[in-house]
Amino acid sequence: MVVEFKTELVNTLPKRNIMRENIVYLSEKTMQSTHLCPTGCGEEIYTPLIRGGHRYILNEKSVVTLSPSLFCDKCQTNYSMKNGYAIIEN
Ligand SMILES: [Zn+2]
Repeated sequence: MVVEFKTELVNTLPKRNIMRENIVYLSEKTMQSTHLCPTGCGEEIYTPLIRGGHRYILNEKSVVTLSPSLFCDKCQTNYSMKNGYAIIEN
């Protein structure tokens, strides 16, 4: 399954209660990123982008790729985030 996400560049990450589905929020200022699980389970997937966390690439349209792949503890889903597409592997 593939789910398209928009990338929203922000200064600080939004609080959980105002986060929307299918958006990757990314702060280059604080080097953090967060989004809601692509399965719709509601879990927040928070990814620090500093040492020991995830790496990120913004393409020419400022759409994000995160690596390595991601995992949701709540629904036990593995997925990758490539050029704004969450690719669910299981
Ligand atoms: Zn999930």
